[in-house]
Amino acid sequence: MQQIPEWLSNKIKEEYVADSEQILNGFSVSRPVSLRVNRLKTDPTDVKAELNRNGIAYREVAWYADALILESATERDIRALSLYESGEIYLQSLSSMLPPLFLDGQAGENILDMAAAPGGKTAQISALSLGGAFITACEIDRIRTDRLRFNLARQGVPRVTVLQTDARKLNEFFSFDRILLDAPCSGSGTLDLSTPIKISEALVRNSVSIQEALLCKALKLLKKNGTLVYSTCSILKEENEEVLFRALRRCGGELIPISPPTGIPVLPSADGTLCVSPDELFEGFFVAKIQK
Ligand code: SAM
Repeated sequence: MQQIPEWLSNKIKEEYVADSEQILNGFSVSRPVSLRVNRLKTDPTDVKAELNRNGIAYREVAWYADALILESATERDIRALSLYESGEIYLQSLSSMLPPLFLDGQAGENILDMAAAPGGKTAQISALSLGGAFITACEIDRIRTDRLRFNLARQGVPRVTVLQTDARKLNEFFSFDRILLDAPCSGSGTLDLSTPIKISEALVRNSVSIQEALLCKALKLLKKNGTLVYSTCSILKEENEEVLFRALRRCGGELIPISPPTGIPVLPSADGTLCVSPDELFEGFFVAKIQK
């Protein structure tokens, strides 16, 4: 087991006081694999039948019919299934299924996924609109863009344009009905003490400055009355509420309160925002919804 860096455990104790022990415990549990049924290609009934045929036990998720928790199968077991190869299912953590649900994109809308690779949420946004949304998926990194294209093709995502570019430089001639900014972050919510720890104070600082620039850009690209979801897989307030409120002050926009679906472990966060606590099922995650 790795040790959590001292600066980070001090920060978590300072920010979360009574909840810090629960967070620190959440970094040392191993979570079961979860998957999302891809409605663009199949439905939960068929996927469950196929899992049953393969002797793979699963649990349903009360707040999302397309999510399944696998009782003991590993990612490798799932990758060996033809369902996986054909893009009928996608391995995705439960927490990371939340931002597209809050975005609530509709068929016919123009939707921007600003930081999209490897593409789980892009494909989920499309599936939630039953393939009817027009999606622009933006990613800065070339290799990750290739992965994004591959994943979107495998899941049969229609009406999607992939742009390999720095989203901070997107032309403001474009505008969107909805935008997901699942921002690059320190990953402080997804620490796994059984693997080498990569988080550093410099990474947090660097993430904050990119997050704020991306969020301001998103607010400029959003149509009036449009909806924006900002999410990170960090639980640090400097990457979440602090970035959010600075960007709202500087670039406009108003927070739309969201409530967590029942059964999700939450941490104290600014009113109307959601911070998921890492635990035996969930990774730490932050979500906020904004309207312009
Ligand atoms: N939304 C993705 C998903 O669900 O599969 C995960 C996104 S990951 C948290 C953040 C992504 O943002 C990374 O792939 C990173 O390369 C990309 N990124 C970082 N800076 C960016 C920028 N300036 N413009 C566009 N993408 C960026």
